[in-house]
Amino acid sequence: MSTENNPDKIYKDSIRILTDLIAFKTISGNDNNSLINYCDDILKNLGATSFRIFDGDKKRVNLFASLKSKNGNGKKPIILSGHTDVVPVSKGWSTDPFVATIKNEKLFGRGSCDMKGFIACALAYAPVFKENNLDRDIHFSFTFDEETACIGAPLLIKELKKRDIKDGICIIGEPTNMKIIDAHKGMNEYTIHFGGLAGHSSKPGQGVNAVEYASRYVNKLLEIRSKLKDRAPKDCIFNPPYSTLSFVNQIIDDYVDKELLPEMKKVFSDAYIKKEIIGEVVGFNRLNDSEACEFVSSITGDNSREAVSFGTEAGLFQEVGISTVVCGPGSIEQAHKIDEYIELSELKKCLDFLKGVKDKSIN
Ligand SMILES: [Zn+2]
Repeated sequence: MSTENNPDKIYKDSIRILTDLIAFKTISGNDNNSLINYCDDILKNLGATSFRIFDGDKKRVNLFASLKSKNGNGKKPIILSGHTDVVPVSKGWSTDPFVATIKNEKLFGRGSCDMKGFIACALAYAPVFKENNLDRDIHFSFTFDEETACIGAPLLIKELKKRDIKDGICIIGEPTNMKIIDAHKGMNEYTIHFGGLAGHSSKPGQGVNAVEYASRYVNKLLEIRSKLKDRAPKDCIFNPPYSTLSFVNQIIDDYVDKELLPEMKKVFSDAYIKKEIIGEVVGFNRLNDSEACEFVSSITGDNSREAVSFGTEAGLFQEVGISTVVCGPGSIEQAHKIDEYIELSELKKCLDFLKGVKDKSIN
């Protein structure tokens, strides 16, 4: 029997693969090579081609694998995208967070909903994509360190641009209960370093107190924060409807360049304020015509669109011109929590959705 005609097998495979994925302790910042090898092996056995993009010390890696269409007729490729890292675990779990445990129709484990559940479904369904002679490519994009500040994805996107892969429909399977998310805010995270000059308390004017300048910097941020509430755009689709301390880059950078730093340098020319980028996640913009949203709606029959306040890799794909939507199994309510779980029914919903992707990819 073909895999396609055995939905029970596909479902069981998705549970088995999810169990395996959860056992890889891919907490953000940690080595995720074993997990990537595991995914790559599954896809390679189906004839997929793939490439990897590493971080500087080869500890963490992105995988981009493709099941190429044999009879391409110009249909846009589909990118099934997920991050392989999970957030750390805190004390208080009822079960081992890295051992998938099924209870009451729920599968518990770190990453079960955010977002190894989606990756497991994509891998479990891949044999069906392979069996059918699809008329479009199906790509699998698995990144590292999304949870910290989308560190892996930009490296992958750079490579996609280089390889001229900038057309397609990207489905980011973050937990949305298979509902369409078509917008979210961006996020910027920095560490600021202040360098001053030690001085004697009897002659404070001859020293540069780095802590004092750092406090003034923080005060400025707080001042800006209070003003941001007044800048909420009309009919804003987000909640809260204003920036929670972003959009401040220009203001705070000006404050440093025109006020704080010149004052420091007057006393000590080597004084510095250095901004170190931890992560900059671009926003995901709502578009009136979104091919990706239309595509998902045409499968699920759900035309609703929602905006959320959490960040994903969606804006990065959107930036290179790939039509993108966030839609995946499980609920964000369970993400990052103690006793994270995914409802088994959500995995089934996701597999049904992937069947829809397949149906839309044959004549
Ligand atoms: Zn996530």
